[in-house]
Amino acid sequence: MLSVELHAHSDASYDGRDPVELLLQQAKSVGLDAIAITDHDEFNASLEAAERAPEYGLIGIPGMEISTAAGHVLALGITEPIEPGLTFNQTIERIHEQGGTAIVPHPFQESRSGVLAQISVNDITAADAIEVYNSRLITGRSNRQAKQLAQRQGLPRTAGSDAHIAEMVGQAITKVSPEENSAEGILTEIQEGRTIVDGKRTPWRISFRQAAGGVKRRISHKLNGDGSK
Ligand SMILES: [Zn+2]
Ligand SMILES: [Zn+2]
Repeated sequence: MLSVELHAHSDASYDGRDPVELLLQQAKSVGLDAIAITDHDEFNASLEAAERAPEYGLIGIPGMEISTAAGHVLALGITEPIEPGLTFNQTIERIHEQGGTAIVPHPFQESRSGVLAQISVNDITAADAIEVYNSRLITGRSNRQAKQLAQRQGLPRTAGSDAHIAEMVGQAITKVSPEENSAEGILTEIQEGRTIVDGKRTPWRISFRQAAGGVKRRISHKLNGDGSK
């Protein structure tokens, strides 16, 4: 069975801190088998990480976290970046056109761009899976709601640490047993719903530090006059 991190941010995200080497190093040292770096509306660092993952004995899955008009969507196994600002359905279509897998992260977290503030629970079935365990949530309530939603809609379940610093990589993992140990093999298992999710909540002081760091970065980002992200 492979342990997979499907949701982690590098310093290519406006609110991430560490370079891909550190994230890969951490993934290796906590015993993960595969990792997807999913930066906010950035794809290059993820591609680089996917290419370099084998140097660390890992399977790399290219991906990104897209800011759709409705909120965040994870795109995994894509080959080209997808622009932010499209509708939820357009974004899912773009992901599928590339043969990618669309996962809805933290759907109930309105304050962190969870899509359910904007779309209905029926719309969400266009996606391939729901992230039912996000380790950055302050309370377990949103995770429980996400789990119930996945159950009700018959959607596959994943977990993600949503790490913004290397130490948190592997905090929430998705376990799969693919026929073939590859990014494609892993994503097929997710699409088929053959997953086990396993996670620990990020300690609150680290959640706080990650959030505070994000705020600082966002402010300097604005001051630099680049509000595009
Ligand atoms: Zn997000
Ligand atoms: Zn994220």
